[in-house]
Amino acid sequence: MHITALAGGVGGARFLRGLLAHLRRTPQLAGTRLTVVGNTGDDITLFGLRVCPDIDTLLYTLGGGIDEAQGWGRADDTHHVAGELARLGATPQWFTLGDRDFGTHVFRSQLLGQGMPLSEVVSRLAARWGLDEQGVTLLPMTDTPVETHVVVAADGEGRRAIHFQEWWVRHQARVPAERFVVAGLDGAAPAPGVLDALRSADVVLLPPSNPVVSIGIILGVPGVRDALRGTRAPVVGVSPLVAGRPVRGHADACLRAIGLESTSAAVAGLYADFLDGWLVDEADPMSSAASPRVLHRPLLMSSPEASADLAGAALELAMSLQQAGGRA
Ligand code: GDP
Ligand code: CA
Repeated sequence: MHITALAGGVGGARFLRGLLAHLRRTPQLAGTRLTVVGNTGDDITLFGLRVCPDIDTLLYTLGGGIDEAQGWGRADDTHHVAGELARLGATPQWFTLGDRDFGTHVFRSQLLGQGMPLSEVVSRLAARWGLDEQGVTLLPMTDTPVETHVVVAADGEGRRAIHFQEWWVRHQARVPAERFVVAGLDGAAPAPGVLDALRSADVVLLPPSNPVVSIGIILGVPGVRDALRGTRAPVVGVSPLVAGRPVRGHADACLRAIGLESTSAAVAGLYADFLDGWLVDEADPMSSAASPRVLHRPLLMSSPEASADLAGAALELAMSLQQAGGRA
């Protein structure tokens, strides 16, 4: 079987780690391949280095090197480089980068500087983290540099656009966002293998990643949404909201910015043209319409086992939709 998933950072990575655990513990699913299409709208250039936060969270989480408590960054990291940069007065100082993490960014920037496409760089990094041995192919959504910006009211008058990371990390999404603008997205081509992975998949999964600034950005890459509409695979998603609130992060602020309520039904509406199955929390009211097929489950990924159970439930729903004759 071939599963393809779209993913942002922490929510996506934890779900996919659960999926791999579920595949390992289920003999009938042996040999299953997983292709992950990662969001690169979060990418940012800091201190001359290209940083890909969501891709790196996926690499570190699936590769066993993540800082569990934070959910991002490397386990057991130190901060000597950042300390020295601060003493030098280098900016910005609101984005934390650990020393081991810096190694990733230096390596990536070196290869990009030599003209290597991001997808190839990611494949090198994935080899370091042993993803292939786990049956995983990680693809950036595009090789074209794209960056999500947030339009906010400026002090005094008018408005200005700031990098998504500045809004998210520095301002903790407390500055009301008017809208999101993704620089470079219109002209971006899907990275090699992305459309094929969606078209040829047996199952497509949408982890509980941020629907606006993670999944929503991937869906904006020209061709991706059409591939999802056209795929023969059932598409099953997991809501990032529990009782109307994001489990972590600021998905509610992102939904507000695009004029939506913070509900699992509103999130499903963003995927309405291709979503076949939808997992919502037991605490969330959502009636079971004909499409998507709604399944209530505990959505909190409170442990690796809970994540594996959640991923297993998503996969089971997808397989039952497949057996029921494919897509609605
Ligand atoms: P980011 O790029 O690091 O922000 O990560 P993602 O976009 O992949 O995921 C962020 C989303 O994951 C947030 O909207 C969270 O609500 C959601 N999330 C995090 N932990 C959980 C969880 O345990 N269960 C569910 N259902 N969603 C979660
Ligand atoms: Ca992210």
